[in-house]
Amino acid sequence: MINYLKQIFAKFFNFKSEQTMTKMNRIHIILFGPPGSGKGTQAKKLELKYGLVQISTGDLFRYEMGNDTPLGLKAKEYMSKGQLVPDEVTIGMLQNKVDSSPEAKGFIFDGFPRTINQAEALDKLLGDKNESVAKLIALEVEDDEIVTRLLERGKTSGRADDSNEEVIRNRIDIYKKETAPVYEFYAAANKSKRINGIGSIDDIFQRLSDELDSI
Ligand code: AMP
Repeated sequence: MINYLKQIFAKFFNFKSEQTMTKMNRIHIILFGPPGSGKGTQAKKLELKYGLVQISTGDLFRYEMGNDTPLGLKAKEYMSKGQLVPDEVTIGMLQNKVDSSPEAKGFIFDGFPRTINQAEALDKLLGDKNESVAKLIALEVEDDEIVTRLLERGKTSGRADDSNEEVIRNRIDIYKKETAPVYEFYAAANKSKRINGIGSIDDIFQRLSDELDSI
């Protein structure tokens, strides 16, 4: 009888530690950089190579907009002007997405966090699961290159916020004022790294892969 109970205990504790191991092994990356720096393109390639799940708040908003949901209509007011959607809306949506993918090996956050408040909320929601951001990788691209890239993308993407130079310049300004400090937030924990975002898609992907491999 005692042996039987011991076995049950062992099973229970093994099971628990396996669960903890899986969780501890999840790797979460923030793919950072101004609009048009190539985050979406690279996130999709990283998903395939590393089996991580991309979460793009911009894509989530566009999906809601496409379905004319209340959340989509709210987001559209801000997105069309190149402004940030309010934190409480964005953070709630992000949290739902993270919570609905418990089986993911890890996440590539693309376009989130964009404010210090969002970064704190992300750390809290991962912290509640005993997890954390492993690394923030910032793609560096100059302003004029961004404007050229986004106007070019606007010709085919159908995105209103990519077709108007004034809106694009506003997005860059907001990036510098509200989003760039997120780099320093994670730098304080020694987690931030800048890489050159200019070059071929494959070259940039190689630079990103080197960063992920060194985690
Ligand atoms: P993106 O596809 O990442 O360039 O995002 C397009 C637009 O969606 C942004 O200009 C914002 O209006 C909105 N958006 C996306 N992610 C966020 C975020 N984390 N916080 C606030 N607004 C966001």
